[in-house]
Amino acid sequence: MKIAVLKEMTPGERRVSATPETVKKFIGLGATMAVEAGAGETASIADQAYRDAGATVGDRAATLAGADIIFGVQGPDPDSLSGAKPGAWLAAGLNPFGDRARVDGYAAAGIEALAMEFMPRITRAQSMDILSSQSNLSGYKAVLDAAGEYGRAFPMMMTAAGTVSAARVFVMGVGVAGLQAIATARRLGAQVSATDVRSATKEQIQSLGAKPIFVENVKGIEGEGSGGYATEMSEDYQKAQAELVSSHIAKQDIVITTALIPGRPAPRLISDAQIASMRPGSVIVDLAVESGGNVEGAVAGEVVERHGVKIVGHRNVASRLAADASALFSRNLFNFLSAFWDKEKGGPVLDAEIGDAVRLTQGGKVVNARLLG
Ligand code: NAD
Repeated sequence: MKIAVLKEMTPGERRVSATPETVKKFIGLGATMAVEAGAGETASIADQAYRDAGATVGDRAATLAGADIIFGVQGPDPDSLSGAKPGAWLAAGLNPFGDRARVDGYAAAGIEALAMEFMPRITRAQSMDILSSQSNLSGYKAVLDAAGEYGRAFPMMMTAAGTVSAARVFVMGVGVAGLQAIATARRLGAQVSATDVRSATKEQIQSLGAKPIFVENVKGIEGEGSGGYATEMSEDYQKAQAELVSSHIAKQDIVITTALIPGRPAPRLISDAQIASMRPGSVIVDLAVESGGNVEGAVAGEVVERHGVKIVGHRNVASRLAADASALFSRNLFNFLSAFWDKEKGGPVLDAEIGDAVRLTQGGKVVNARLLG
């Protein structure tokens, strides 16, 4: 069983899909590991470290030649995969809703594409979930990015020259990234509040020492759909939420937005008028900027200023912590394949629950229910 680890080609992508640690572990299972030269460079992993772990290091053609499984952080161009075995698996983050043409390309190329972001949200798959591992780091980094742009301090400081007051941080969307953002802002000494449409998050917010800001007494506020994800909210709810947020946001110094709805554009949470109500020098970080954005005027890949408020829209925030993000992503891939490793076959055999959820293409066709339905 040969596993090929590709160098990422997407501009700005600094992560890598296997580390020397996971290379060793796969070799321990009996796999042969081939790493494309320079694959780990932007995550601070030298080619020699992969060789020391037991992998071969070569150009793309040598890496792909005869590969049974191909690893990527993001989906490679289907045309760049020739040389792999027919029916080879591609395990990567494939952005299936956002890049359907590429999925069709994998089908046409005879690749069996496995989208790691379609990992089901079940307990046994937690350690395989790239969305969780990468969102966790993004939530942390969002707070540091905000602190870097903010011309004031986060904690209250009582100094001989006088007192500096604590920053007020508001986190909108309390999933994995939001929870980590709350925890990080608290560690930096900020006064933190947070909101979500899923009422189950209220207790989680409180348990981290932050204040929940919630719409009450509006029909259909449960907000939780299948797999623990949010659903799109009613118009009544959206109106009540906008009013509540308007009065709260005007008093905030930092706002971090993380709200996503799978397969749909991100919900708009902050309007231009709300930005104008914040005091100059405040900072908003929009972690959903690549999915359409939670914040009016946010621009993917840029820090823009509106009404004296900085709006941070970095792309691919996890990649800004490339070493740790790669370590966790790589372990997610190892946890996934090793859980299904069949000793006799010398490779993984997926079960239906997880296999059908992540498999996008097979036998030259798109087969995933979420894409076909
Ligand atoms: P996500 O990235 O899909 O969305 C981020 C957050 O935004 C969510 O909490 C969502 O409810 C919220 N949101 C959506 N619309 C909103 C709006 N209009 N206003 C305010 N907030 C809004 O979420 P996530 O980080 O993937 O986590 C979702 C849930 O799934 C969490 O409960 C998490 O613990 C759970 N989860 C479970 C597993 C597992 O069991 N394997 C793995 C990962 C996450």
